[in-house]
Order: sequence, then C-alpha cells, then structure tokens
Amino acid sequence: MELKRFMEKQVTLQDLIIVGAGPAGVSAAVYAGRKKLKTILIAPSFGGQSIVSESIHNWIGFPSIAGSKLAESFETHVREYAGNDLNIVLESVTTIQTEGNGVSVTTDTGAVYHARALLFSAGSTRRTLDVTGAKEFEHKGLTYCASCDGPLFADQDVVVVGGGNAGFESAAQLLAYCKTVTLLNRGDTVRADPVTVEAVSKNSHFTLIKNAIPKEVHGEKFVTGITYMDTISKKDIKLSVGGIFVEIGLIPTTSTMKGVVDMDEAGRITIDPWTQKTSSPFMWAAGDCTNIKYHQNNIASGNAVTALEDIYVTLKSK
Ligand SMILES: Cc1cc2nc3c(=O)[nH]c(=O)nc-3n(C[C@H](O)[C@H](O)[C@H](O)COP(=O)(O)OP(=O)(O)OC[C@H]3O[C@@H](n4cnc5c(N)ncnc54)[C@H](O)[C@@H]3O)c2cc1C
Repeated sequence: MELKRFMEKQVTLQDLIIVGAGPAGVSAAVYAGRKKLKTILIAPSFGGQSIVSESIHNWIGFPSIAGSKLAESFETHVREYAGNDLNIVLESVTTIQTEGNGVSVTTDTGAVYHARALLFSAGSTRRTLDVTGAKEFEHKGLTYCASCDGPLFADQDVVVVGGGNAGFESAAQLLAYCKTVTLLNRGDTVRADPVTVEAVSKNSHFTLIKNAIPKEVHGEKFVTGITYMDTISKKDIKLSVGGIFVEIGLIPTTSTMKGVVDMDEAGRITIDPWTQKTSSPFMWAAGDCTNIKYHQNNIASGNAVTALEDIYVTLKSK
C-alpha cells in the first residue's frame, strides 16, 4: 500500500536514500524529515538487531524497554515525518551503484530508486555460538552483549567466549560487576591487543583459559554452566557459571556495498569518523556496518545523526 502510494507519486530524483531502519537508519530518517530532505527510507522492517532482546537497559530516556517496543517507537517516530518529503519503503536492498553524480538502489521487488546521496546503515548480525544448549539458553543466561546485560549478572561467576578485543573488552566491563570472569580462547594465542590483554589479566578476579573449545551449555531454567574441550589434553572440562557472554564476532551486513566503497578486512565499511563519509563522495555509512569499535544503539544513532548533518551540509552546498 505504502509503496503503491509512493510509486503513484512518480517521485524521481531524491536527495537521500537511507538503507536500514535500526537505530542508525531511523535516527537519520527523523533528522532528514525535520530538515525536509526528499528522502526514501528502505528496510524490510523497523527496529534492528536488538528487537529480539527482552529488555534493553541503556537506550536513553527508557530505564528498560523491550526490543519489540523499541522497534514500535522507532516506527512511530519516523512516521511522524512521513509524507511528501520522507517516504518509507518496506523492502530489502539488493544492489547499490554510483550513477552520475549520485546513486541508484535496487530492491528485491525490482524497484530502482535514484538519489543524490546515500546513507548506508544495514547493521550487522552476531556470529552465534553453535554448540548444544546455546540456542536454548539464549536470553536465559547466555547473551551476546556484555554492556547491555552485564549488570544483570552482578556478583556471579561468568564466562566470556572469544579472545579478540571484543571478548577482552567485555571481560573488562564484566569485572566491574561479576564475582569472577573466565575467558575461553580457542587457540594458544589471543587475538586481542596486548595492552588490553595485559590490563584485564591484572585483575585477580579474571582467568584466561587458552586452547578451550566450547562444547555444551548447561542449565535448568537459566544457565548453570559450560563444558569446553581442552585441545591439549583432549579432556572435557565443566565450569559452573551463571552467565555466558559470547563475543565471537559480528558479521557486517555489507554485501551490497562490496566493490562500491572501501571496507576493512572484516568487511566493515571504513568511514571518516569526523563526517561518517565513505570512500565514495555520494555515500555515508553509520552504525554496526562500519569500522567502529563499540556497538550500541545510542552509538549507532549518534553516528547516523553526524552523517545526516554532513549530508545536509554537503547537499545544500552543491
Ligand atoms: C541480542 C542483542 C541485544 C542487544 N542489546 C543492546 C542493548 O541493550 N543496548 C544497546 O545499546 N545495544 C544493544 N545491542 C547492540 C545494538 O542492537 C546494535 O549496536 C545496534 O542495533 C546497531 O544499530 P544499526 O542501526 O547500526 O544496525 P541494526 O540494528 O543491525 O539495523 C540494521 C537495519 O538494516 C536493515 N537491513 C539489513 N539488510 C538490509 C538490506 N539489504 N536492505 C535494507 N535494509 C536492510 C535491517 O532490517 C535493520 O532495519 C544488542 C544487540 C543484540 C544482537
């Protein structure tokens, strides 16, 4: 219906296309609406990654809010500005190209949209732990976000799975609340920066276990422990813990931007943090699809606002 009405208007060249309706995309859309940029917001649905979370504790303005409610509030806020200038298209983007002095975007319905600028904010997905019990105990003691859920595990023994920077940074955060933090690292060497490893390892409540491959998550109503295999002794070892924090990587949703803009080795779009500009003069990116260090709703939102301000100034100065 919405798309039909939009197509009937025969809108041609837009100022801006926003891809994604997580915190980054919706924040940009609200600013674009208020600034009366001719904008199309394209995403299959509103909310983004944290829609699956039962309670988000650090979205400013709400001490706690369910992911589904957050998604509803995003949609309500954006629709306040929908109309002549801001159009919402509930589709998935399949192709993005530069075209003359702008961009063209094709969606899964075959529709093609043209604009002078693009803000890409298609986020990422978390690499999930693929062992027995991991799915069953997700949100019941097994979580993918230490800064979101850490305080719920105050005074408990917890495990972090993953020895990259995200794993060690999660451990550092958890050491502020938890009784003990044990980090399981698959190999003999950790991938995190030595300075981070050193800082965390100094804490007497922290233990690093190397050569440890998770095998099973245990629990009743909630997590009670995790079994890992020691790859040297080949023995299975069970740890009793109340929480498991998985930090084994994010998979950026950037396949449609491959070959269009520069990315780092992990497939995240490299941006200028001053402006959120990509390597293309017509494209900006914000949120979890970019090469930023921290991944939070507020950060994605703020970065998208930076991008929008820069897009506005750039378009108006042309
Ligand atoms: C389980 C969980 C709980 C979390 N809890 C918290 C929390 O409590 N507090 C917190 O601050 N952070 C939390 N986070 C992290 C937070 O959700 C992310 O940092 C944030 O969502 C990133 O926002 P984003 O807008 O960059 O991307 P996303 O939220 O990933 O949104 C991406 C958007 O792009 C759309 N999209 C994807 N592909 C396409 C395509 N091809 N075409 C069009 N649209 C597309 C998606 O549908 C979505 O609308 C949590 C994450 C998870 C996974």
